[in-house]
Amino acid sequence: MSIEIKKFKGGFDRNFSYIVYDTESKKSIVVDPIIKEEIPSFIEENKLDLAYVLNTHGHFDHVEGNGKILDLTGAKLFDPAKKNEKVGPISIKVIPTPGHTKDSVCYLINKKWLFTGDTLFVGKIGGTSDLKSAKEEFESLKKIMMLDEKIIVYPGHDYGKKEESTIGEEKNDNPFIQKLNSFDKFLDLKENWAQYKKEHGLA
Ligand SMILES: [Zn+2]
Repeated sequence: MSIEIKKFKGGFDRNFSYIVYDTESKKSIVVDPIIKEEIPSFIEENKLDLAYVLNTHGHFDHVEGNGKILDLTGAKLFDPAKKNEKVGPISIKVIPTPGHTKDSVCYLINKKWLFTGDTLFVGKIGGTSDLKSAKEEFESLKKIMMLDEKIIVYPGHDYGKKEESTIGEEKNDNPFIQKLNSFDKFLDLKENWAQYKKEHGLA
């Protein structure tokens, strides 16, 4: 058994899709499929036995490839209300992380890899629409920062200075995570993010 992660980039705005697969049993899942020919090709070429399509939330750019993959493979759409599921040697734990959207979740796979969608990016966090959702996001981020620092973070978009990081690196480098001790400071950074980016030369 050897579990691998294959990443695909494209979609609406530097979106990431991921396939997690066991090289031996071929059991596999896909997270947030974008529309990209490479994804069905990869599944076919590697003869993967795809069990589920997982979505981190319902925004169109994270679900737009669902239909094609479901039609082609016979995989099922994963229901995040499930909380835990096993696909051969792949374990899925659902962590509800409302904020960016009400339905946002993170998926912790095999206790090692965290698929964060638009809740957490490398060095950034997801946008929110109002005060209530900002507060929810604040609480959600606190929750995922309780996880092991060695866990690898796989975000939903390529918005950072590198493609993935760890919980520990986000604690050290992500300015929003460093404001999790004060909601007022967290909110202030969200409201003045454009200015902060300019001052720190961030894209
Ligand atoms: Zn989104």
